[in-house]
Amino acid sequence: MITRRNLLISAPVAAGLLLPGAQLLAAPGLVTGETRIMPRQGKGPRVVICGGGWGGMTAARHVKEQIPDADVILIERNPVFWSCPMSNKWLIDVVDTDFLLHDMLAPARAYGYRLLNAEVTGFERDKKLVRTSQGGIDYDYLILSGGIRNAYDAWFGEDQASAEYTRQHFPSAYIPNAEHVALKRKMQEFKGGTIVMTLPPPPHRCPPSPYERACVMAWHFKTNKIPAKIIILDPKPKIGPIGEGYRAAFEELYPDIITHVPNAKIKEVDPYNKRIMTEAGDFDFDDAVLMPPHQAADMVWWADLIGKDAEGRPTGWADMDARMYTANSDENVFIVGDSMGMISDQFGHYPKSGHVANAIAHIVARNLAQRVSGQEVVPELPDNLCYMLVNGDPREAIAVQFTYALAQDGKVHQTQIDIDVRTPDLLAEDFVWIEGKFNDFLA
Ligand SMILES: Cc1cc2nc3c(=O)[nH]c(=O)nc-3n(C[C@H](O)[C@H](O)[C@H](O)COP(=O)(O)OP(=O)(O)OC[C@H]3O[C@@H](n4cnc5c(N)ncnc54)[C@H](O)[C@@H]3O)c2cc1C
Repeated sequence: MITRRNLLISAPVAAGLLLPGAQLLAAPGLVTGETRIMPRQGKGPRVVICGGGWGGMTAARHVKEQIPDADVILIERNPVFWSCPMSNKWLIDVVDTDFLLHDMLAPARAYGYRLLNAEVTGFERDKKLVRTSQGGIDYDYLILSGGIRNAYDAWFGEDQASAEYTRQHFPSAYIPNAEHVALKRKMQEFKGGTIVMTLPPPPHRCPPSPYERACVMAWHFKTNKIPAKIIILDPKPKIGPIGEGYRAAFEELYPDIITHVPNAKIKEVDPYNKRIMTEAGDFDFDDAVLMPPHQAADMVWWADLIGKDAEGRPTGWADMDARMYTANSDENVFIVGDSMGMISDQFGHYPKSGHVANAIAHIVARNLAQRVSGQEVVPELPDNLCYMLVNGDPREAIAVQFTYALAQDGKVHQTQIDIDVRTPDLLAEDFVWIEGKFNDFLA
């Protein structure tokens, strides 16, 4: 019998299985270096999009809409779409699993692009070829929207066993995969004690959301009278963004549960003995949400498109044109979403949010259409908006808004507005926001 609980556990865990009707083009064992799949359709350019999350699904729909004769192929490793936005609210059942989990074939059918459930495994950019677990696919234009990877090597170097142990026992749940389900169950089964939450150093995915996660977990423990403490180890000197709103929530709603520790840069993580050494002191824990540093998705590294700093070390993020969103070394490759590199020395990176991924994917679709039709490419800037739940009863949220403008120095400048006063209205706005986004790229 399929119960709500079965569904909750089985669906994301099924990542890697094909949905009925999805294209299985070759048995993985039979794929050779020379295998080519997906013959071209139509006379238009071939646009291959790697990664079917917020950025990739938006790009697939809108490239096809902007360039109707294009042969658009979206490659995604997961059989279903899982939305990280709203997933903190799902931890305390503000939304159910069906709200976050979506069929990917329906939008492909509705908007006329092709979906391939496969792992992107590499690139031969000189041949304009993407390698996948199903075979090679050639392209005219490539859009990379693979999101982020967890850089456990910053903590453990070559010691992969410790990285794997950490991922399994103290999942970060910051990428669309089964870790979200593991985290929810862990939270529901926690009987009491100290939970440590490490925040990645900036730039990282969705800067305000780790604090939101701490709030919803604290609300769960408070409501269910579970004697839990949450220690947030923050490498930054203060909470941000929406620092005042979060500070008020921590102090007024969860004074006995949440402790925020600033300047807690990680020195060493010992997952086996449940101990973390930081520049702000050492911490023992009973359980933990260990978020390592974030970097651009593996696919950007495999495409050899990672930037280098002044000392020649990898920046961890794509080396790209801040206005055109193309790779600096390859104008036929666009980078969309969280993998994007530095935009401006005024503020660094765009916030790594679903809102920005969606906005950039729209812009890239328009710019690509301009290019293909021989028009002048008009550079555009995104905006950003994020709503964060801080209280479960009454349900109240805070928010942050960013706008961007081109300054006289030719650089992109950022304006940030924190909305620190928690209200139910902001949560209502959040639902309007996400419905609008889902309607934009799901079907
Ligand atoms: C808890 C949480 C809360 C958040 N809340 C918000 C919010 O309220 N508002 C907001 O705007 N943003 C929010 N975000 C951030 C948002 O989820 C990301 O910024 C957004 O998903 C980025 O889009 P993307 O396309 O770059 O990456 P993703 O959406 O992660 O998509 C990347 C896709 O690429 C696929 N992929 C990666 N590598 C491969 C490969 N080798 N082969 C095939 N497929 C591959 C992945 O499976 C994934 O589906 C939140 C994030 C988290 C974790």
